[in-house]
Parts: sequence; C-alpha cells; structure tokens
Amino acid sequence: MSANPYRDKQTIRDLTEALRGEAAGLPPMSIMHVCGTHEHEIRRHALRQLLPEHVRLVAGPGCPVCITPASAIATAIELARLPERPIVCAYGDIVRTPIRTGSLFDARGEGADVRVVYDLREPVRLARENPSRRVIFFSIGFETTAAPVAVLLRGELPANFFIYTCHRWVPAAVEALAQNDDGVIAGYLLPGHAAVITGQVAYQFLPEKYSRAAAVAGFEPAEILAAMLSIVRQVKSGRLTVANCYARAVRREGNQRAQEVLFEVFKIGTAAWRGIGELPGTGLHLREAYERYDALGATGVAEATDVEDVMPGCQCHLIMVGRRMPEDCALFGGECAPDHPKGPCMVGGEGTCRAHYLYPEEPDD
Ligand code: SF4
Ligand code: SF4
Repeated sequence: MSANPYRDKQTIRDLTEALRGEAAGLPPMSIMHVCGTHEHEIRRHALRQLLPEHVRLVAGPGCPVCITPASAIATAIELARLPERPIVCAYGDIVRTPIRTGSLFDARGEGADVRVVYDLREPVRLARENPSRRVIFFSIGFETTAAPVAVLLRGELPANFFIYTCHRWVPAAVEALAQNDDGVIAGYLLPGHAAVITGQVAYQFLPEKYSRAAAVAGFEPAEILAAMLSIVRQVKSGRLTVANCYARAVRREGNQRAQEVLFEVFKIGTAAWRGIGELPGTGLHLREAYERYDALGATGVAEATDVEDVMPGCQCHLIMVGRRMPEDCALFGGECAPDHPKGPCMVGGEGTCRAHYLYPEEPDD
C-alpha cells in the first residue's frame, strides 16, 4: 500500500478496471477537464494510458496565464511604460508571457520598473516602502485567486496602491464550452480548487440544461480516475448529475463566505479569453465602491483594443478548447519550449503545452 492512499497502485488498478468495464460497449466519448493542474497531474502520472481507447480526455482552458487576453498584457505594458514610471508587479508567468509586441519582461529590459511578486502582500509592502510612487498590481486568475484579492481590497491599503484586475469566473466559461462543444464532449471534469469556492451547485446547468455529465475532481491520480469513472457511469446510466468526487475539500454550496466577499468587491460581466474571444458572465470586474484602486482610472490609461491574441504559428487557441493537442503544433518542443516560449500555453505554470513538454508520456512509477 502506498503512503499516499490516492496514489495506491491497487486502488488505481481497481479504478482503471472499473472504468474500462463501465465504458465497454459505449460509443466513443470525450471528456474535458478545465484545470491546468489536472493536465499536469494527468501527464505526470500518464493517466491517459490507463483509459480505454474510445475514451478521450481533452484539456480545456484551465490555465489562468494562458487565457489572459493579449489586450490585458498590452494594457499592463502600457501602464509600466508610463513616464512617471510606476512599479508594476505581477506573478512571474504573466510577466514572461509574450504578445506580438513583446512582454512585460521585455518592457523591464527597456527600463520599466516591472517586478515579479510571489505573494499578494508584496505589492502592498512595495507601496508602503515607496510612498511617492504608484504601485500597480496586475492581478489575474480565476475565483481562487480573485477571492484573496477581494479580501485584500476590503482592508486598509496605502493610497499609492492600485490594481489592474483581469479575473475570470470559471462556471460561466464551462457553460460557454458546453454551448459550443457541438455535442462532442460527453462530460466535464470540474476543477477542484475553483469548486472549493463555487461548490458543485454552480455547475448544475451541465446536466440540467446541456445534458452533460459532470464530476468535481481532486488532483491525485485516484481522484481524477474516480471522477472519470463517475462521468462514464453517468453517461452509461443516463442519470446525469454533478458528482462531487473531491468531497474532502469541496462542499455542495461551496465556500459561501468567500463568495460573499468576492461579490462584494467584484461584479460579473463579459470578458475576453485569449484566443477564445468574449464570453458573457466570465469576467470579475471591480465594483464602483472599489474603483479608487483601479489603475486605469487613476492613470487615465485606456484598456488596449485590437491586440492579436494568436502568436504566429501558435495553436494555443485550439489547444485551449480541446481541438488540438500540443504535439499537433509544429513549434512544440523546437521553436517553442519553456525557456523560449512562443505561446502562452508553454509559459503558464499550468499551461497544457508546458505540461506535455515537462512530462513525456512515460509514467513516473
Ligand atoms: S486555480 Fe486550481 S482549480 Fe483552478 S485551474 Fe488553477 S489549479 Fe485548477
Ligand atoms: S507549442 Fe508553443 S507555439 Fe505551439 S501551441 Fe503550444 S505554446 Fe503555442
């Protein structure tokens, strides 16, 4: 028995056998996950090799860096290039993510004061240490990262601290995927961390409105396989639901206190996803009461428009909706690799191309 019960070999064998048994005789089906960590764990443990041939597991838009539109990165670059030279802070991956005109990292090379931070408290500390300068935090990510940002904005902050937010709400994005999947996706493997906030109820539209199976999955091999098994069983029986296969962390209604705080600070609206386009209901935009922190309002910089999302030759826009695999891209592993990325999916720590590059198909144990 493995020290980690979720990696126990016998458990994994049993789940694989059950999955194969339930899927036998069913028509070919595709299941989509929408979480970058899922893709990394699926690759790390070579879980696709355990699936029957007619059950495909495809990756959706699960990496917050990859889905941040080029227009937002262009806007952040413009903020960094302001003559007053504000300090612009962001997490490392988004600083390195290229758009056609360069990256925040390139702007730093040209003299802008762009700093990589590892923690939400760092931009606030920088603002306190530099009271005569604007400090702007370029904040991206899903509800999981938006909730702590909301907590931060409700607290006492220095007057020179500003934020440029580009947060996204996952359930509405999954709904847009289900609306546009041409019936190809039989079920959705839902992201465990995000569901800690939203709960499984936020995805009830999948079985009820779109006749899709769904299961919230944790991140260990046995948890991912158990969620796959649930989806296959739902498809087989026709009893569609949103199963919670990550009950050790996710509650049915989610974290309601976190939702209250999140929606006190942010309101839902339309927002762009890189390479996918505008998706209604997926944006988390600052409410009026918090607009004093808005870096665009404070500096007069307008949101960039007409910025091309797709890099020449890059297939990220198709990979992010499960229509291509990284290996289908002619640049994969050659012209595009983690130390010289051409597209966002190779930069983002949770990017699909990065996962495929880091973990070639062989299992690690
Ligand atoms: S925030 Fe967590 S659940 Fe959401 S995509 Fe990233 S790893 Fe997955
Ligand atoms: S390998 Fe690179 S260029 Fe190709 S799709 Fe992935 S990120 Fe884009």
